[in-house]
Amino acid sequence: MKTIEVNGRRYRWMDDPLVVVCVDGCEFDYLERAAAAGCTPYLARVLREGTAFKGDCVVPSFTNPNNLSIVTGVPPAVHGICGNYFYDREADAEVMMNDPRYLRAGSVLAAFAQAGASVTVITAKDKLRALLGHGLKGICFSAEKAAQATLAQNGIADVVGLVGMPVPSVYSAALSEFVFAAGVKLMRARRPDLMYLSTTDYVQHKYAPGTEGANAFYAMMDGYLARLDAEGAVLALTADHGMNAKTRADGSPNVIYLQDLLDRWIGAGGARVILPITDPYVVHHGALGSFATVYLDAAQRDAIGERLAAIEGIDLVLPNAEACARFELPPDRMGDLVVVSGKHVVLGTSAARHDLSGLDAPLRSHGGISEQTVPLLFNRRSAGIPGHARLRNFDVLDVALNHLERAALDRTAAAARS
Ligand SMILES: [Zn+2]
Repeated sequence: MKTIEVNGRRYRWMDDPLVVVCVDGCEFDYLERAAAAGCTPYLARVLREGTAFKGDCVVPSFTNPNNLSIVTGVPPAVHGICGNYFYDREADAEVMMNDPRYLRAGSVLAAFAQAGASVTVITAKDKLRALLGHGLKGICFSAEKAAQATLAQNGIADVVGLVGMPVPSVYSAALSEFVFAAGVKLMRARRPDLMYLSTTDYVQHKYAPGTEGANAFYAMMDGYLARLDAEGAVLALTADHGMNAKTRADGSPNVIYLQDLLDRWIGAGGARVILPITDPYVVHHGALGSFATVYLDAAQRDAIGERLAAIEGIDLVLPNAEACARFELPPDRMGDLVVVSGKHVVLGTSAARHDLSGLDAPLRSHGGISEQTVPLLFNRRSAGIPGHARLRNFDVLDVALNHLERAALDRTAAAARS
């Protein structure tokens, strides 16, 4: 049996094309509520007859650390990407972490391509494309920049012509639809061995599970997933993180502005608050999430940590070493303190630095432990998953390749009936 080993884990070669879908911000509830409302007949069947688990994502429960964990099969302590944004101590600069030079491990996608598999990666936003496609010989493009895709850069040209859909706004549900539509077209045209589809959480930031806006999104997704299934693909669906309302009773954002607080306590310039959620696309969340890291004088660390921990709405304050051990993070890319806020609370820097004018719906966001539970859903049965006390979203490739039955669901169901 042919296998490959990547980052210390072994994966069986795929028999059928494998499509891994990372549905950005997909609380398990979105799937169950849409299915219960009759909006997603295909997903309802997979929930019922396939394999469905609840697992844990990586904390900070943000997009980039989790997408990279999923494609490398290991946590940020190994692959190095622990946020969208960080303070580079060596360069003394706050920088985006979306450059592949920050990656410390290769992906399972690149390894399969290297070993001869045909691999396709499609992301919604372009910010993930370079990281996910690093070292990859294959097709890799974003819906956002689909019109600019070239054979030399992306392994494919004229994506817009192939998909037959105009390139949507970066703030739209349609950006994710473009990802699925392209995936179905490419599955039919080229039948890649391995496909990774990653959507955007624009809808999940706006709509709670079971609402009309959310159900419409999952209904859209349902149609495309059913088409991929009909092509004989094994589908493995997970999420980068969950999503919760982060508002007060009156609907206003429930924010603790850490930088303002620390400036008051120890003077301006005494501490630096970094929000790893920070990225160029902030309209739908105002750069507010439930995870922050603080750089400050070592002598003040414990006293400040205790004071922060006493604030209502802050769930956890840990020194660097403890936080990095607990959440499997790279210590050199985290501050002296790690701060996690509660289920309905977010952390900011200074009130003046957050533009909330783009928020046209009550704030929903993520980043904390409260958004750690994510689905792992497969359109095949499993014979049990040995060796996993606690399933992680970055086990999705292991489960899909090593622990699923070969037979498709309808055949299984037919056999059971006969
Ligand atoms: Zn996300």
